[in-house]
Amino acid sequence: MNQSNKIPYSRQTIEQIDIDAVVDVLKSDWLTTGPKVKEFEDSVADFVRADHAIAVNSGTAALHCMLHCSGIAEGDEVIVPANSFVATANAVLYCNATPVFADIDEESFLICPDDVQAKITPRTKAIIAVDYAGHPCDYDRLREICQKNGCYLFSDSSHALGATWKLKTVAELVDACTYSFHPVKPLTCGEGGLIATNHPLLSERIHRFRSHGIESDHHQRSVKGTWQYDMRDLGYNYRISDIQCALGLSQLSRLNQWEKRRTEIATIYREHFDLLPDVFPQKKSKVATHAYHLFAVLMRDQEQRNRMFQEMRQAGIGVNVHYQPIYLHSYYQKLGYHRGICPVAESTYERILSLPIFPTMTDQQIEFTLDVVQKQSPQIRIAA
Ligand SMILES: *Cc1c(COP(=O)(O)O)cnc(C)c1O
Repeated sequence: MNQSNKIPYSRQTIEQIDIDAVVDVLKSDWLTTGPKVKEFEDSVADFVRADHAIAVNSGTAALHCMLHCSGIAEGDEVIVPANSFVATANAVLYCNATPVFADIDEESFLICPDDVQAKITPRTKAIIAVDYAGHPCDYDRLREICQKNGCYLFSDSSHALGATWKLKTVAELVDACTYSFHPVKPLTCGEGGLIATNHPLLSERIHRFRSHGIESDHHQRSVKGTWQYDMRDLGYNYRISDIQCALGLSQLSRLNQWEKRRTEIATIYREHFDLLPDVFPQKKSKVATHAYHLFAVLMRDQEQRNRMFQEMRQAGIGVNVHYQPIYLHSYYQKLGYHRGICPVAESTYERILSLPIFPTMTDQQIEFTLDVVQKQSPQIRIAA
């Protein structure tokens, strides 16, 4: 099978207007931390209805900024779901704090509020909910738990730009949330990330932290006509460039249209899987809109999932598995985390599969994908 016939599990959408936007910046005076960064931040802040948005050079940097600038430090515990990309928990380690893994709901694959409650200790400083696949978590329950226990409610919304819970964006429901603009995510800057928050002090700290702990940037000093700057805290170079933000801005104008297509694809998948007895799509809440970064399904058992993975890869369909519980990675095993902490996340990992979903996926590609799934689902054949 040649490359052009392959269906990836996800793929960016780059069109001429994206290319033009990037070329315009290359011809301008500012390649980094210029007007496009601010314009991108303001546009995303509007889009997610947050007071402040700070763009950085990756989703991982965004997580580190959010935690460090909220004062998470050695001795603190931060609760994260077991089924996320490693970066969610790694950011806790960057702060010398301790990740505590909470289990997930077996139908929605989202962090389970009851298990969060069970894992709270006097040292718990924050919870990072992850809007797995693009579906917002139960922010009513999580907010209640955080209020009762005096800890921050954060989200890693890398999958969920555009998603809503009871008509609110995730940014409106948490103390701070992060996004990733890696190419497979809902919107891309090539690489990039962003923190959205309504806390002005947190926003101010993150602005400094992303640029060495220095209180002003080149552009601001150029406008003021001064060379002086003060380094107030120890920060990093987590800056994103104007080149990347021009791409992000151009992408943002089409995000709603892309999400519509993702939802259409998901609806077709769901209608078909309703008729298959051994393929169970992620349960969707009626009060949520789903960004469908991933379309995740549970298979009957591990053997069927593994067989399906092989067959689909052989047919040129880029299926994937999201995620191995973070604490089962060898680094976390060496830190002393052991199997059995989150039994649902562990058994889900054995049975789960992400099917292709991306805005430019064609009807033929959907049909082909469904044909291959159906051949592997022996019990019932759908009449054509
Ligand atoms: C992609 C992703 C990240 C990391 O984002 P980068 O931009 O690649 O650093 C963090 N958390 C989750 C859940 C992700 O999917």
